[in-house]
Amino acid sequence: MKITKVEAIPVRQKGEIKKINDSAQDGIIIKVYTDEGIIGYGEVDSAPWVVKSIIDSPVSHRICQGLGQAIIGEDPFETEKIWEKMYLSSMFYGRRGVVIHAMSGIDIALWDIKGKALNMPICKLLGGVQRDKVRAYGSTLMPYTPQEAAEEALRWKEQGFSAVKMGWGGFELPQFECVKLVEATRNAIGDDMDMMLDIGFIPSGDFNVTAASRLLLINEIREFKPYWIEEAVYPDDYEGYKMLVESTDVRIAGGENETTRYGFKQLIEVCKLDILQPDITRCGGLTEAKRIGAMATAHNTTVIPHAWSSGIVIAASLHFIATQSNSNLLEYCVWDTPIRKEMLKQDFKLRDGYVDVPMGPGLGIEIDDEAIQKYRCDII
Ligand SMILES: [Mg+2]
Repeated sequence: MKITKVEAIPVRQKGEIKKINDSAQDGIIIKVYTDEGIIGYGEVDSAPWVVKSIIDSPVSHRICQGLGQAIIGEDPFETEKIWEKMYLSSMFYGRRGVVIHAMSGIDIALWDIKGKALNMPICKLLGGVQRDKVRAYGSTLMPYTPQEAAEEALRWKEQGFSAVKMGWGGFELPQFECVKLVEATRNAIGDDMDMMLDIGFIPSGDFNVTAASRLLLINEIREFKPYWIEEAVYPDDYEGYKMLVESTDVRIAGGENETTRYGFKQLIEVCKLDILQPDITRCGGLTEAKRIGAMATAHNTTVIPHAWSSGIVIAASLHFIATQSNSNLLEYCVWDTPIRKEMLKQDFKLRDGYVDVPMGPGLGIEIDDEAIQKYRCDII
C-alpha cells in the first residue's frame, strides 16, 4: 500500500471565536489517502492554518520540506519510519511545537489506515487491550463566582461523572478568590467525587507565575483534596515544576504543551512530574505517545492524555489508554461546540462513569464528512 495524498482541512465554528481557553472552537482534520482506497483520519489541536501550511508547503531544501509531499509514496504501515522521515524533513524549521502537532495528525491517520486495512482496532495494533473501558473525568472551565463554580461541578456529577476538572477561567482572579472557587466546588460535589484543578499558567491577581507564588495557592487549596494540580507554571519552567513536586504532596500534572520523547524526558527525569498529559494530536501522535508511555512506565509515572477537540482525539486517547499499564483516566471535554460534538456521527456515551474503547477497525469511529464540509474554513 502507498500514500497518495495528505489533505489538511481547517474547520471553524460559525460566528465569534472567543479568547477563552476553549480550543474546540476551531480545528483541523487530516485525511491521508492510499492507492488501495483506504482513507485514514487524524486531527490536530493547534493553530489550524499554521498546521495546514506545514503540511501543504513545497520543498525548500532537504531538511526543510512540507510534510505532505515528504511522505507521498510511503507505505502507511511503516509508522516509525515515516515519523522519522517527517521529523528529519522538517528539522530546519521544526523539532518542536506546531510541526510536531502537524506530524501528530498525520501519524494518527496512518494508524487509522493500518487498523482499517487489517480490520482491527488501533488498541490491538498498539500492543493489546489492558482495559476495554476507561473512567472519564468531565473537563470544563472554572467559572468566576463560587456559586457558578458549585453549579458547574454539580452539573457534571449529576450527568454521571465520578471526577470533574475545573480549569483556567476563574483561576485568573486574586488568590483568595481562587480559594473560594475551589472551596465551593468541593462543597458542592462532596467527598465522593475526584476534583482535578487546572490552575493554568496565568497569574492569580497580582501574583506572578512563579513556582514560589503557585505553591502559596496550592498550599491553600490542598485542604479541599485536589486530585491533581495542572500546569501550575510555564511549560518550559522545568525547574519550577521540580520545585513544586519536591514541595507538596499534591500530585503535580503537566505536559499538554510538550512535544516529542525528548521533551517528555525532561518532564520525567528533571521535573519528576506525578502525571504526564501528552495530547495525542500534539505530542507526536500515537507513535510518539507509545514511546512516551514506555519511558514513563520505567519511571513509575502516570500518563493521562490531554484531550480537548473533536471525537477523533477522544478515540485516539481511548486506544492509547486501553494499552497502557500506567494510564486509567480519559479527559472528556463537556463543552458543546460543533467541532467537539459534530465531527463524528456518534458521541462517546458515558456509562456508569466510564467510556467504552471503540473496537471497530482503526479509530473505530464514523466520521461525518458532511459536518466537516459544513464547518470547513480554508481562508480566514
Ligand atoms: Mg490543561
